[in-house]
Amino acid sequence: MQEDQRDFDVAIVGGGIGGTMLGAILARHGVRTLLLEGSGHPRFAIGESTVPETTFGLRVLARRYDVPEIEHLATHGALRRHVSSNCGVKRNFSFVYHREGEPTRAEECTQYPTWGPPLGPDSHFFRQDVDAYMFHVAVSYGVTAHTHTMVEDVKFEEDHATLVTRDKGSFRASYVVDAGGMRAMLPERLGLRQEPPYRTRSRTIFTHMVDVRPFDTVAPPREQHGMPSPFSQGTLHHMFQGGWLWVIPFDNHTAGTSGLCSVGINLDLDAYPRPEGVPAEEEFWQHIGRFPSVARQFERARSVRPYVSTDRTQFSSQQVVGDRWCLLPHASDFIDPLFSSGLAVTVMSLNALGHRLIDAVRQDDFDTARFQYLEHWTKRMFRFYDDLVSCSYISFDDFDLWNAWNRVWTITTLYGTNAQNQAAVTFEKTHDAACFDALELPPYRGLQGVDNPWVERLFEQSRDAVLAYRDGEWTKERTIDRIYELLRQSGLCPQVWGTLDPQDRCPAGVFTLWPLMRILLWGKFRSPRHVRGSYFTGGARMVGKEAAQTYATELRSGATQVHQTLRDMWFNWNRDWTRRPAPRSAAGRPPGTAPARD
Ligand SMILES: Cc1cc2nc3c(=O)[nH]c(=O)nc-3n(C[C@H](O)[C@H](O)[C@H](O)COP(=O)(O)OP(=O)(O)OC[C@H]3O[C@@H](n4cnc5c(N)ncnc54)[C@H](O)[C@@H]3O)c2cc1C
Repeated sequence: MQEDQRDFDVAIVGGGIGGTMLGAILARHGVRTLLLEGSGHPRFAIGESTVPETTFGLRVLARRYDVPEIEHLATHGALRRHVSSNCGVKRNFSFVYHREGEPTRAEECTQYPTWGPPLGPDSHFFRQDVDAYMFHVAVSYGVTAHTHTMVEDVKFEEDHATLVTRDKGSFRASYVVDAGGMRAMLPERLGLRQEPPYRTRSRTIFTHMVDVRPFDTVAPPREQHGMPSPFSQGTLHHMFQGGWLWVIPFDNHTAGTSGLCSVGINLDLDAYPRPEGVPAEEEFWQHIGRFPSVARQFERARSVRPYVSTDRTQFSSQQVVGDRWCLLPHASDFIDPLFSSGLAVTVMSLNALGHRLIDAVRQDDFDTARFQYLEHWTKRMFRFYDDLVSCSYISFDDFDLWNAWNRVWTITTLYGTNAQNQAAVTFEKTHDAACFDALELPPYRGLQGVDNPWVERLFEQSRDAVLAYRDGEWTKERTIDRIYELLRQSGLCPQVWGTLDPQDRCPAGVFTLWPLMRILLWGKFRSPRHVRGSYFTGGARMVGKEAAQTYATELRSGATQVHQTLRDMWFNWNRDWTRRPAPRSAAGRPPGTAPARD
């Protein structure tokens, strides 16, 4: 693909979304970067639903490292325009409860909308398009990339590593990042895989389908369920005792070009051990048939690719960083697709890894201690998501228990997202990338607000209540009462939200402009002392400015399409190539050349 260069500062094994974003960031800052991908692009990948902490984190990545193409993944509008109209929109997380043999009850659902424009909405990534786009971006910044190049081994010496590929020979690099996902090579080679130390024990059966009906056409009418956002325009979770099913449509907006929908059933391994000799497809349809409303949604659905059935979904590595190497999160550990945490943790890790690697290359100092932050915070987040997910599976016993427990997650998400937004707002004012350092200082480290003692206490005490219920020590009623009491005592719930009212099943309301302003005003002027000053300190101006820009961009893009169509009806010649953005690469230097050393 490129000249036969063999010596690099950083080698990245795996050209998925994580490896390619890291490659683009490093090359943008002059790091001689090698990217080796075992397959080619486009290729199927799982991990399709974003969450606000993913998309806010992508915005931070793009601005901090000056790679604007990453920001094209941060809102559905930009994704559709710049990357692929095969991606879906995610305007909400919807959770619908099911009992075997019964149609769903209108009042047994909850919803958490994602942010409206300009900061949202979230997306359903059609990963083969998104990953191919990011791969091309990485190459355009100067990454030396080889596809169909499987790395089989890495040998570490005192001052470098040698990567051995299946059929493209060896490469040398000062540092190796394994972005190889669940089948990553380094954890195997270094003997790091361990029995996952997690409470969550689940397995998954998934595929892509056509003709999955919008759940709005089979659900009780809106007047009865009362949710503010259509079920079909978000990630739909069908919950039942011991499991849940994701429905992630790519065909759910008017500008879409896809007819596909991603679906996957997740089952508690102890409640549903993997049956011997039952094909994945047959088991999938057995579960669909148990729940009449789900069966109606799927009555015309057909898969377009083979069903994948996993053993235990959780995996784990003993270490995240070592001498001259580190693992991206999905090469290290995984919990469960519930709450779509995979990409959020990946983006968090890239934010922390990017500047460490750039500095390490400039100073020619790859001391493992520089990277310890990643070890701690990657593992910390996996422990958090294990608690969140395992308690959710427990709460699937009963709708009211879920209705209480999921409110804790809406609060942790609010503070996690706001931490990232705080940094983006400061950057907007100062244009100084140093402001992003705050994300590695208390109380903003990690995701989901876990670094804030009040958030942490609320979460851990609520978790303990759910575990007491699981162990038969507490009744369901006592557990639910305790969670509402903890939410009340925490002072973290915005007064403009209905978090403390069990009847309000979309307690966060919606994130359109006016409700957003109300949260900001509450945070700035009426929130308790431990919130005020640390969160919601600003952002109204930034949101206003970005709203105007988003509106202008959509208008310009629509007008350009109309103009070009009319023009092409009359003329053959044009100068469209002059409208293409200039190629970007490492500032001031040809791609692949070394950065200045300190
Ligand atoms: C069932 C399931 C559902 C999920 N759903 C979600 C979701 O809804 N939302 C979410 O945020 N996350 C989800 N995740 C997690 C998500 O898939 C990951 O966080 C994400 O894909 C990580 O991206 P990555 O680039 O690090 O790894 P990957 O996307 O796995 O890419 C790894 C790449 O490395 C290549 N590779 C591997 N080994 C080698 C080698 N030795 N040499 C060369 N190349 C190699 C592979 O070919 C591949 O292209 C889900 C995960 C699972 C298992």
